[in-house]
Amino acid sequence: MAEQRITRDYHIHTKLCKHAKGEMFEYVETAIEKGLTEIAFTDHIPLPDGFDAAHRMAESDLEKYVKSIEDLRRQYPQIKIRCGIEADFYDGFEDYLQKTFARYAFEIIIMSVHYVKGWPKNNWAFSFYFPDCSLTAVYSDYLQAVRRGVETGLFNVLGHLDLIKRPEQSLLEQNRSEVEEILESCARFNMAVELNTSGLRKEIGQVYPDLSFMPLVKEAGLPICFGSDAHEPWQVGYRFEDTDNALKAFPNLTIKTF
Ligand SMILES: [Zn+2]
Ligand SMILES: [Zn+2]
Repeated sequence: MAEQRITRDYHIHTKLCKHAKGEMFEYVETAIEKGLTEIAFTDHIPLPDGFDAAHRMAESDLEKYVKSIEDLRRQYPQIKIRCGIEADFYDGFEDYLQKTFARYAFEIIIMSVHYVKGWPKNNWAFSFYFPDCSLTAVYSDYLQAVRRGVETGLFNVLGHLDLIKRPEQSLLEQNRSEVEEILESCARFNMAVELNTSGLRKEIGQVYPDLSFMPLVKEAGLPICFGSDAHEPWQVGYRFEDTDNALKAFPNLTIKTF
C-alpha cells in the first residue's frame, strides 16, 4: 500500500485575530517548505456585539482577509490555498453566523466551541475552573453545546472535538454516549472530524480529539482532516508526520479533501 502522507493543513490563523504572529505569506512559505500541497486559512470569525473581540478578527477585517488569500493564491500557484474560517458555535449567534457565511464564500467552515453559554464569562473551554462541578458534568455541558452546534448544519468540519479534556479524566470514559451522538449528527450533516495537532504543543500532549476516538469516528463513517491550528508560521504542519505514523494503528480511515 502506498505511503499515506498528511499533506493538507486545514487550520491556520493570521495576525488579524490579534493573538497570532507573522505574515500570511510566511505561513504559506512554511507550508511549501514542509511539502504540503494544500492549506486553509481559518482565522477566528468576528462575533456579534464585540463578543471576545480581543481574540478574533473584526468585521471590518473580513474583506481584507479574503482579498489577502486571493492575492496569495496568485503569488503561490504551487500550493492550493483555501479560504476558510474558524467559527464559534455559541447559542444565540446562529443568525449572525449564517449571514456572515452567506456574505463570504468560505470553503472550509470549522465549528469550534471555545465558550459555553451560561458559563462564567471568559472561561475558555480549555481553561475553565469549576471547583464545585464534577468533570463529567462540565464535559457534558460542553459536549451538549457541541451537539447543538453540529445540528445547526452550518459547518463542514468539527474542530478540536475534545478541547475541554483534562488529563485527570478521559472524556470518553463517562461521556462516551454523548460523543457517539455528536458523531452520528456529524454524519447526518456531512461533516469531517478534524485532528488538531495543537494539543501536542500544549500540556495535554495529545491531538484533539485523541486517537482513542478513531474507532468511533470510523464507526460513524466520518472522514478526518488535519489542522495544525498554527498561530505562528513555524507551526504549519506541526507534527503531521508523527500523527500520520500514529494513525497507522487505525487503517482505513477516510481522509477528507475539499
Ligand atoms: Zn479553536
Ligand atoms: Zn484555531
